[in-house]
Amino acid sequence: MSQDQRIRRIVIVGGGTAGWMAAAVISRNLAADYAQIDLVESPEIGTVGVGEATIPPLLTLNRLLGVDENEFVRRTQATYKLGIQFRNWGRLGHEYVHPFGAYGADLDGIAFHQHWLRLRGLADVDAIDAYSLPIMAMKAGRFTRTSDDPRHVHSRMAYAYHFDAGLYGGFLREMAMARGVNRIEARIVDVALNPDSGFVEAVVLDDGRRIEGDLFIDCSGFRGLLIEQALKTGYEDWSRWLPMDRALAVPCEAVGAPTLYTRSTAHDAGWQWRIQLQHRTGNGHVYASAFTTEEAARDTLLTHLDGKPLADPRPLRFVTGRRKKAWNKNVVSLGLASGFLEPLESTSIHLIQSGVTTLMSLFPDRRFDQADIDKYNSLMREEYEHARDFIILHYHVGERDDSEFWRHVRATEIPDSLKERIDLFRSRGRVMGRHEDLFAHTSWVAVMLGQGITPEGHDPMADQSPAAEMAARLAQIRAVIRNGVSAMPPHQQFIDRHCRAD
Ligand code: FAD
Repeated sequence: MSQDQRIRRIVIVGGGTAGWMAAAVISRNLAADYAQIDLVESPEIGTVGVGEATIPPLLTLNRLLGVDENEFVRRTQATYKLGIQFRNWGRLGHEYVHPFGAYGADLDGIAFHQHWLRLRGLADVDAIDAYSLPIMAMKAGRFTRTSDDPRHVHSRMAYAYHFDAGLYGGFLREMAMARGVNRIEARIVDVALNPDSGFVEAVVLDDGRRIEGDLFIDCSGFRGLLIEQALKTGYEDWSRWLPMDRALAVPCEAVGAPTLYTRSTAHDAGWQWRIQLQHRTGNGHVYASAFTTEEAARDTLLTHLDGKPLADPRPLRFVTGRRKKAWNKNVVSLGLASGFLEPLESTSIHLIQSGVTTLMSLFPDRRFDQADIDKYNSLMREEYEHARDFIILHYHVGERDDSEFWRHVRATEIPDSLKERIDLFRSRGRVMGRHEDLFAHTSWVAVMLGQGITPEGHDPMADQSPAAEMAARLAQIRAVIRNGVSAMPPHQQFIDRHCRAD
């Protein structure tokens, strides 16, 4: 690369979770004198700051950033998360868990759940949850960190965190600013485009300053200040599949020891989250305004709270979908500026992580090769669509038909990509994905079974060992898991021992 084509000025627009994640990752990856990095944020406009539940790949980001985990948990008031509990989703009164970590262990080179499908119904074969270390640990309220030794039962789970998004933003800001990121507090009032190329040249601030850049990262939230308002990139609206378009969020007092799971409870026209942090409990109701009113949604939320509310419910509006191009000209959009999927599977913060790490792998110079941009856009499109399909699955499959909303989502045509997956699972419980898929084998198995799909058969390759022998191996796995859980301390005790300042 010729030196004079190097990106020398990077401007990050927005200081929400996306902006500060981008600033932390980019400043960590580039040498101190490689480029100047400015971040513009406007406290007047503020941040969404709701994101509280995460998924296991965040640990990779923390490692990349050199984060000390105990300090991170302490500073963000975090708790540990081993999965998501779904209540009233497949049918009223029913619950299931999407765990982080595989069921049992592969036996004879065949996925564990295939053996379970073959043997279920035999006297000594339990519900599939009994063969999942994260599910049994969360039910017992016990936690320890994952083991790196594949022979150890504690290697059979993964974990993530629930944290205070505001504190997380501050944590990342400190890290990014220590690595030289320059924070500018101002409101952007205009975006200057090059009249020939249409590239963004500068953002203009309310005090008249002009911040010029070679590469712009649009983290301005739903408004998409650069990617949409300036570049008119266009938005793919996915609300025909996912009609939720509103949320009400309310923090509550902490009650009891924090659970190791995010709870999602389905309601008549949406669902409610409950996320327990160290110092408070986050609650929110995501709903479809075509099927209920704000007043009714608020009542539903407030009558299903654990703990006393600490504020009035805060309303949020969104349109599910994604920007047609996440990267357009010299603007890369991240976070809410790039798209939005409801937080049912805690994917938003992950999609920011994925967007910024993919950008580092395809980092441009000032020539902005179209092949790199096209690759970035196709990778991000696949990732969003994969997460979208996984979320639609929760609504489409199941028995609920007790409200207009549920009848609507059950009857809606689904993307072919998802239909194929469901058909495959229905016949022999098979899940075929790509290695890089965010939601791997276990996630699809958990949600398909949890939503009530009973496969008609199983993989014939699972029939190779005599049933009695295999049933004994399953019993052994169940016992190892039980012992593995007993060896873990209670969740609260783990936090107190490892992550408290005093
Ligand atoms: P924002 O937080 O909106 O930040 C935008 C930034 O741009 C702000 O700093 C603002 O000052 C700045 N800005 C905008 N315009 C200007 C301007 N003109 N001049 C200067 N600055 C400007 N994600 C998860 O992973 N897990 C969850 O559990 C989760 N729950 C959610 C629940 C709800 C209801 C919602 C709506 C989202 C949830 N998310 C969740 C998503 C998560 O909150 C967002 O992905 C995350 O907060 C990123 O937001 P952002 O940084 O893109 O935008």
